[in-house]
Amino acid sequence: MFEKIVSFIKSLYPAENPVPLHAPRFTGNEKKYLIDCIDTTYVSYVGQYVGRFEDEIRKYTGAKHAVAVSSGTAALHVALLLTEVKPGDEVITQPLTFVATANAISYCSAQPVFVDIERATLGLDPDKLNDFLINNGILKSDGKCYNKTTGRKIAACVPMHTFGHPVRIDQIIEICQRYHIPIVEDAAEALGSFYKGQHSGTFGDIGILSFNGNKPVTTGGGGMIITNDKALAIKAKHLTTTAKQPHPWEFVHDMIGYNDRMPNINAAVGCAQMECFAGVLENKRTTAQMYKQFFQEINMPFITEPDHARSNYWLNAIALKDRPERDLFLVYATERGIQTRPVWTLMSNLPMYRHCQCTSLETAQWLEDRLVNVPSSVRI
Ligand SMILES: *Cc1c(COP(=O)(O)O)cnc(C)c1O
Repeated sequence: MFEKIVSFIKSLYPAENPVPLHAPRFTGNEKKYLIDCIDTTYVSYVGQYVGRFEDEIRKYTGAKHAVAVSSGTAALHVALLLTEVKPGDEVITQPLTFVATANAISYCSAQPVFVDIERATLGLDPDKLNDFLINNGILKSDGKCYNKTTGRKIAACVPMHTFGHPVRIDQIIEICQRYHIPIVEDAAEALGSFYKGQHSGTFGDIGILSFNGNKPVTTGGGGMIITNDKALAIKAKHLTTTAKQPHPWEFVHDMIGYNDRMPNINAAVGCAQMECFAGVLENKRTTAQMYKQFFQEINMPFITEPDHARSNYWLNAIALKDRPERDLFLVYATERGIQTRPVWTLMSNLPMYRHCQCTSLETAQWLEDRLVNVPSSVRI
């Protein structure tokens, strides 16, 4: 069975050895725009590409505002600050995610609380969120939700769209609204993913995207804050550009800001990548279809887009029989030049987050033991 899988993956990527998990592709105007940055000397914080890239993302996602930043992690951090997460607060998120989600909460000196995920979306389970809040949430006279068990304010909720598969965000929003909990959507992996026809990351108060080298659109490193709230967007720009007041020469900063800008040279690559993105998505969705059919034939569970969702299929994933079987497969594939990766270790199993409050994490643990990502680059 492992042999069949390896030879199928090799047939998808005949030119690559080893076959990487997700390699970036530069087939458009990347070089041209980079040369333009160098020729004009606008490699850093001056130049046309940052504004242009923000416009591209706004148009593509339908978000009213977009603010480019230096990484997805920085975008998450600033998004949480903008939703008024304060030291000592709590933020609900899912245990199965990339560590940046939980770290960004820690950067605000807040505590993550982990609520279990669901099999169908691999993301935050609205029913378990609802149960958690019924048992632990209480609205106080200041209009905020508090955790009855810990006494701390529940300042935000951060669902994450795992591998680009959208969570049931409409239900999560409905529940959080009842408890006055703002939502930051970690859509780092979900550029090109839609739920009920609307782009992921545009449902919550703020959404974030990542343009790291392994994401479907890359700027080398980079991120984006997206929102429909103009005031939040203005604050996001201010906070990520050292909170400097506009002036031709004076340096007046009116608060402690961050140097989280995206340099022009990175945005230039992003502009070129967006020009090719429709083709990238089509290619990735076709690859996912091929995987789906193949894994159906050999009777192995392959993760498909949930109901009402159109996924970008950032990383394709399968579920092995159990953890020992998963480990055997990882060794087998790696030895044969196929880069495969187990899903992240649950946040609640990492030393710095082991003490955090969590619900029963049955589904997350089940998936942690079994999920493996298989090569998902655009096929050339
Ligand atoms: C990639 C990623 C991030 C962070 O993005 P960077 O640009 O690498 O900082 C955050 N959350 C999730 C779920 C991610 O996959």
